[in-house]
Amino acid sequence: MYTKHLHDPEYQSLIDERFDIFEKSSLKYEVSLLANIDKSIVGIDNIQKFVSQRWNTVLEYVPSIMRSSKPEKIKSALDAWKTYKTNYNIHTDNSHKSFNHIILNFNKDKIYLAPFIYENGAVYTEDYRVHTITLDAVYSKYQEMVEWQYENAGETCKGCDYLSQCVTHLIPFFTTTTLNERDYCPLNTDLL
Ligand code: SF4
Repeated sequence: MYTKHLHDPEYQSLIDERFDIFEKSSLKYEVSLLANIDKSIVGIDNIQKFVSQRWNTVLEYVPSIMRSSKPEKIKSALDAWKTYKTNYNIHTDNSHKSFNHIILNFNKDKIYLAPFIYENGAVYTEDYRVHTITLDAVYSKYQEMVEWQYENAGETCKGCDYLSQCVTHLIPFFTTTTLNERDYCPLNTDLL
């Protein structure tokens, strides 16, 4: 989302519509707004206050590292992000270091499981795709990927205290199969 559009009434009503879907459902849910960190966030004052008053939630900023279709670009952005000593490290907050949550991307008429490294990854390759659109199929594909990681993660991950958490986020799956790195950690473990 571009924060510069947040005061546009048409944009607001589109957000309202999406909130409405959740409110009318039987789901237990938590909704937040999400904005990429880019030039559009500069100079907008009191945006959190506005979002809180208008939708009773928060605006989360994400670095847009995982939104490229090019693995080499993602890798170099992850390398850069990892060096920030006080970086934005969502893996340390309570809502994101939880276990066993499954993130899905819907792209056209297809569903994909999403890796989570600071933010949801947009990876639309066959190895992330759920072919049958049922909850059982989603869970079964997720379990298959989790088990694959325990067997195939690199040596650094296998010896790491955070393996269970990272497996939940499909991080070793992403680094190994998408980035083609056999032994790569994208997180700054000093900050976890
Ligand atoms: S990705 Fe990094 S933090 Fe996660 S298990 Fe591997 S070495 Fe540990």
